[in-house]
Amino acid sequence: MGDRRRAVPGTDRVLSDPGVAAAVERLGHQLVVRTVREVAQRARDGLLDPEGVVTETLAALPRSASGMRPVINATGVLLHTNLGRAPLSRAAREALQVAAGTTDVELDLDTGDRGRRGASAVEALLDAVPGAEDAHLVNNGAAALALAATALAADREIVLARGEMVEIGDGFRIPELLTSTGARLREVGTTNRVRLDDYRQALGADTGFALKIHPSNFVISGFTAEVGVAELRELAVPVVADIGSGLLRPDPALPGEPDAATTLADGADLVIASGDKLLGGPQCGLLLGRADVVHRLRRHPLARALRVDKLTLAALEATVRGPRPPVAEALHRSGLAERAAALADSLAAAGVPAEAVDSGASVGGGGAPGVVLSSAAVALPARFAKQLRLGEPPVMARVERNRCLLDLFALDPDDDEALRRAVLAAH
Ligand SMILES: *Cc1c(COP(=O)(O)O)cnc(C)c1O
Repeated sequence: MGDRRRAVPGTDRVLSDPGVAAAVERLGHQLVVRTVREVAQRARDGLLDPEGVVTETLAALPRSASGMRPVINATGVLLHTNLGRAPLSRAAREALQVAAGTTDVELDLDTGDRGRRGASAVEALLDAVPGAEDAHLVNNGAAALALAATALAADREIVLARGEMVEIGDGFRIPELLTSTGARLREVGTTNRVRLDDYRQALGADTGFALKIHPSNFVISGFTAEVGVAELRELAVPVVADIGSGLLRPDPALPGEPDAATTLADGADLVIASGDKLLGGPQCGLLLGRADVVHRLRRHPLARALRVDKLTLAALEATVRGPRPPVAEALHRSGLAERAAALADSLAAAGVPAEAVDSGASVGGGGAPGVVLSSAAVALPARFAKQLRLGEPPVMARVERNRCLLDLFALDPDDDEALRRAVLAAH
């Protein structure tokens, strides 16, 4: 035993191996040393041959200095909050690379003076939504709501329908977010019905604005009535609309989903949306609307605490100006059944009990609630779900009626081969 312990190479000797030294360049000293020590301890404990310490260290090293791993989304939920919502377009990823360095994010290169931070991202939004006089960006949709409530209604009232008091997920409730800013809520109507007169009667000297919230993760059906932005504009107060999902223009694939251009044309003074839902960009909150309102938000002291970083600005601009991002591609793609059939055939030929089936995908992540999108999947025995999740790369499937479904809706066709290999590895 003592001999064995002495045969375990010291940390410095392992670090001098060219492969391990290259890993230090890539991952940093600390991460590599920690792995070397763990592996050496296993060798000292007799769990590993001392000769194998270098090889085992190289195998055990993390792939990158960040613990976040790419995951294949075969859930059929297009915007999966646990998977980081929208995957970015190639153009946005390239923009991130550039933005990661030193950039002109807040500099006017012509004059050498300070420039307006993120001006080109705002311009991209205004080009995409000409009905908006101005735009401002914050960290996410919730931050946009908090800024609007603080700047336009602190110590005053926000009038909103009872049926639009939404909990957005993970226990976060929009009404609580709004009151945490010091604004007071004035609920009108009942859970299922509200009329313009309900709003009108609630208005007073204390009203900051009327708020319309898109119930983005549930549907109320039956005996219902709501008041749209086009009617709310008749009230003598500003109208703020939280549309949630961030569609900038109507999308025929999702006819029931509100969009920024239409909501502004209907008369909203301010539209609030997320950047990483149906817009398909990075996490951020969009505020679009009347120039004087947006100016007030931008100049409010809280705005500085909610401002987005250069990475977000770059990725959003590239998403808005560049080619259709993956989320929009997925919504308009055909040929899913053919892909599922080809994948199932190829897996079956390798002995995997796989079968192509019709499937129903969803937008998820706060968009198009209740809408079932026609999709296709490969069905496997349920036991595959866990093996696939623990594989490399991890695959998230959907377990339904005791089967593991690999839904192709959210998957780029270029990733079908990676999915096939992951299933074979899990077999
Ligand atoms: C998703 C959502 C939010 C919160 O947006 P985040 O970007 O997740 O902070 C707010 N309102 C509605 C209607 C939403 O759908």
